[in-house]
Amino acid sequence: MFNRISNRLFLTLLILLLALSSLYISMVIYSAPLFLQELNQQLNLNLAENIVSEKKLIIDKKINHKAMKTVLNGMMLVNPGIEIYITDQQGKLLAYSAPKGVVKRESISIEPVKKFFQTNRRLPILGDDPRSHETNKVFSAAPIKSNNQLDGYLYIVLGGQTYDSIVNILESNYMLRSWISAIVISVLIASLIGYLLFRYITRRVFVLSEAMDKFKKTDFTQSVVLPERFDGRKGDEIDYLGSTFHQMSERIIQQVKLLQHNDSSRRELIANVSHDLRTPLASLQGYLETLLLKNNSLTNIEIQEYIQTAYEQSKRLQKLISELFELARLENQDANLNFETFSMSELAHDVSHKFKLNAKSKNIILKTQIPARPVFVSGDIGLIQRVLENLIDNAIKYTPAGGEVEIALNIGEQAISTVIRDSGLGMTEEDTQQIFERFYRVEKHRNEDGSGLGLAIVKRIMQLHNTSISVLSTPDKGTIFSFNLPQSII
Ligand code: ADP
Repeated sequence: MFNRISNRLFLTLLILLLALSSLYISMVIYSAPLFLQELNQQLNLNLAENIVSEKKLIIDKKINHKAMKTVLNGMMLVNPGIEIYITDQQGKLLAYSAPKGVVKRESISIEPVKKFFQTNRRLPILGDDPRSHETNKVFSAAPIKSNNQLDGYLYIVLGGQTYDSIVNILESNYMLRSWISAIVISVLIASLIGYLLFRYITRRVFVLSEAMDKFKKTDFTQSVVLPERFDGRKGDEIDYLGSTFHQMSERIIQQVKLLQHNDSSRRELIANVSHDLRTPLASLQGYLETLLLKNNSLTNIEIQEYIQTAYEQSKRLQKLISELFELARLENQDANLNFETFSMSELAHDVSHKFKLNAKSKNIILKTQIPARPVFVSGDIGLIQRVLENLIDNAIKYTPAGGEVEIALNIGEQAISTVIRDSGLGMTEEDTQQIFERFYRVEKHRNEDGSGLGLAIVKRIMQLHNTSISVLSTPDKGTIFSFNLPQSII
């Protein structure tokens, strides 16, 4: 039950309220009698003085018992708790109204009486109670004088209630009861409001923790649906927590999807690699086996033919393996590039020269449109050469006899655009979107020798040069590949 934060907060509030209310109640109980005493003394402040000025209580140094009785009778009507004492100058009791036997003291301390006469006194001032040796009571006092000579004091014990227990105080005092009831009611109301408020405030934390728990139990592929209130608009900590959790869960989902995708493409890659390696290997093995088993029955021409084919297959295998290695090396995060400024026009000339014979043997015209003056670019010359070779090799490979392949360099304001155009087989738009993926080969072109890795290598090299390769192709009309490199001025 106390696992919920709202309940814990409520419990804390309750303890606090109870502690405070107990403190208040004890203060009220302690201060109420003092307050009442003060009130009592305040109300009867001039009582003794008035009596002294009205009645002559001492005549010729003798107590005027008659006057005292009259005063007492008058007093009894107003307040029966009042007791009247007459003392001498030192506080010795000379006469009193109380019945004989109940008065325990012979004298009272005169100090409080003197304090009572001071102008800057602070009430209540407690004086000795002649009825007891222990208790003190509020009083009113006045000096009794005759012929300007101090005869003694009129000492009126204001008496009233004495409180010996809390119940006693509570029973006798309406105001005190009201105060305590008000405190108790306030505590109850504050607790209720506190409870509801804490529940309301922590509700969003509760909802959030439930959503987190739900997310924890999933396979981290589906988004968590959070209530609208966590959209960061409120801007408090809970809102921030909610929107952060939402962003984090989205990131986790993305990462999980990426991992899953990577895992499946890794499996696909392994399957493709093993398939593509196995085909030439099986063919190589087949020819070698035939040569071994049927060596005697084969003609010299046949033997020559078989060895040639086996050699071709081993070359294919070697090409495939080296392309795989090359791609793996380039895909490595810290593939080392050798950036330098070089003449693109010179490189294009060289590569086209390299393919001249190949094109001629296929009866393809290999043209160049390269500016006469050297055009400099910045990049890794070895890798850019590889790009040109792959693109020209493909252009020749997928162009039938009698066709044309052109290498052109266009000088832009800041970049040099290299274009390899052919009038070959071309391909559909759907194909152009996939040819840069590893092992992708257009179905119709499968009779041509190829690995499906050449363009993946090209794409990666372009990425490493912070540029991209684009392709435009029309089936049976031809294909245009182009890429830009930043121009270098020297
Ligand atoms: P491959 O070794 O098969 O040529 P690439 O990655 O170089 O592998 O090319 C992928 C596929 O793109 C090729 O199999 C081919 O179908 C298609 N392709 C590439 N260049 C051209 C082109 N110039 N004309 C038509 N199709 C092309």
